Amino acid sequence: SMASPALLMRVVASAYSVAEKAATIVRNVMAAGDLGIVEKTGANDLQTKADRLVQMSICASLARKFPKVTIIGEEELPADEVTEELIEDGHCEEILKRTCPAQYTGIKEEELVIWVDPLDGTKEYTEGLLDHVTVLIGIAYGGKAIAGVINQPYYNYEAGADAVLGRTIWGVLGIGAFGFQLTEAPPGKHIIVTTRSHSSTLVNDCISALNPDSVIRVGGAGNKIIQLIEGKASAYVFASPGCKKWDTCAPEAILHAVGGKITDIHGNAFQYNKEVKHMNSAGVLAALRNYDYYASRIPNTVKQSLVP
Ligand code: AMP
Ligand code: MG
Ligand code: MG
Repeated sequence: SMASPALLMRVVASAYSVAEKAATIVRNVMAAGDLGIVEKTGANDLQTKADRLVQMSICASLARKFPKVTIIGEEELPADEVTEELIEDGHCEEILKRTCPAQYTGIKEEELVIWVDPLDGTKEYTEGLLDHVTVLIGIAYGGKAIAGVINQPYYNYEAGADAVLGRTIWGVLGIGAFGFQLTEAPPGKHIIVTTRSHSSTLVNDCISALNPDSVIRVGGAGNKIIQLIEGKASAYVFASPGCKKWDTCAPEAILHAVGGKITDIHGNAFQYNKEVKHMNSAGVLAALRNYDYYASRIPNTVKQSLVP
């Protein structure tokens, strides 16, 4: 008989469909017009009805299929019964057909941690900057981000009525990443992508020290990794705490799957085991190519201000 696909591939294949369902919820909440905005720590830290419904959908759908996997979502929600209409039980057949890298074939459910950002770029979502928004499902094993799905619900929304709205990007270390056209940033130019709504003096001082040719300010950690893998920006630089493990896990897996690198501002790898603290206190530094160039130019004064 045919061997059944490895657990990791089944999780990624399911996460793909779960992320597509999530994107539909994100679009439906916006179309209905009642965002139900709640401030978490303040006016720049928001939660909407979409963040809540999508987290319930993703976590309940994956937990039903993979009951022993640890799933950590961004939002703190009451342990309500999730309605059946939020459950997605499909999977992406194309992913299931891919061969699992040998080092991951023996993984058991208890060994996986899934980091869920149901809606990354919430501030921008509330302001109508819809293509900044992503849904992030990151899969970690042994403390490392090894696979991820990024759905961009409003990809193409300014491209006209004929364009297909939304896309799903997925990747696994040792297989690669798919659903987009891998493109390098213009050679010899330093184009920095950074936060739009969580800036600070330190964030801006760090960018100035890199002497960039241009700076792109957009929302979302997922969106910024997309800027790197599509050649729009050469480095993602965020010298500030504020970004969390669910922001970086899926983007990290996809960036690493295509040969890029993401760390904190000191060059330390992020850890994704279930006991780890959620905050990426020492910021974010990422690039598809020439990571070392940017790492070598982060000022010591900036590093001293950001304790891991
Ligand atoms: P940004 O680049 O500002 O979109 O931030 C990337 C991710 O980190 C988003 O999920 C933000 O909500 C989160 N984040 C960054 N800085 C902060 C902050 N100061 N407070 C709350 N969340 C933050
Ligand atoms: Mg986020
Ligand atoms: Mg979020």
